[in-house]
Amino acid sequence: MTFRPLNVLPADHDGEHRYVHVIGASVFVDDRPADDGWDAHFVGIVDGHAWWAVDVPDGADDPSYGAALDLRAFFGRAPEHHWLAAGRGVQVVEWARTHRFCGRCGTPTELAAGERAIRCPACGLLSFPRLAPAMITLVTRGEPGPDQEALLARGVQWTVPMYSCLAGFVEPGESLEAAVVREVAEEVGIEVVDPRYVGSQPWPFPNSLMIGFTATYASGEIVCDPTEIADAGWYRRDDLPMIPPGISIARRLIDDWVRSGT
Ligand SMILES: [Zn+2]
Repeated sequence: MTFRPLNVLPADHDGEHRYVHVIGASVFVDDRPADDGWDAHFVGIVDGHAWWAVDVPDGADDPSYGAALDLRAFFGRAPEHHWLAAGRGVQVVEWARTHRFCGRCGTPTELAAGERAIRCPACGLLSFPRLAPAMITLVTRGEPGPDQEALLARGVQWTVPMYSCLAGFVEPGESLEAAVVREVAEEVGIEVVDPRYVGSQPWPFPNSLMIGFTATYASGEIVCDPTEIADAGWYRRDDLPMIPPGISIARRLIDDWVRSGT
C-alpha cells in the first residue's frame, strides 16, 4: 500500500504498468493505454506498478465509455494512495496542457528528457509544475477544555450548508504564518496569534497544496467579508454544525480539536 512519486521510470522496473487516463479532469485507470500516440507522463510507483498519466485529447472518443470519475468521486472508490497518484497524474497532465507555448517567446514547447520540465527550444525557458500553497486554519477561543470554541465559516459559493476552517492562498513574499494571520483578518475581521503547523495535504483542485494550521483568538468581533464568507460563528465541540467530509484536511483539523477536548 505505497505510492512513491517519481518523475522518471526506474531503469530496473520489472513490474506491471497502469495507465491513468485523464479525460478533462476525470480519471480512468486501465492496464493499457487506449492510444499509444497520446502523451503519457510518468507518475510514480504504486504498489510495485509503474503508473502513467495519459493525456486524452479533447474530442477523442471516451476510452472509459463513461466510467471515468472526477477526483472527488474517485476518492470514495479507491484506496487513498491511488487517489494521491491519480491526483498527481491530473495535475501533471493539466500542467502540460497549459504550457504548450513558451510564456516568454511564444514558441511551441517540448517535454524535457529525464526531468519533469517543459522546455522552449528557441529561448531555453524551463517550466516546472506549479503548486499553489494555501493555508487552512482552525481558530480556537478560550482555555482548552469543554468550553473552548472553534471558529467555523461557510463560504458564499458552497452549495451545502457546511461550516469549515478558514482558508486562502499564500501571497508572493509572504510566510505561511503571515498568511494565516492575514486571511483570518480579511475573511472574518478578527486577530489571531500563535499560528502552528499541523500537517499538509495535496489538493488537486486544480493544483493546491493545503497547509493546515491552528491559531489562537486574540481580539475582535466576527465581521464576515461578504464576497467570501456567508456566515461564521464560534462553536463548541458538543454543538457543531455540518462539517466537511473526510477527504479534506479541514476535517482532520476539526476532528483533532474535537478529540483533544475529550
Ligand atoms: Zn521561449
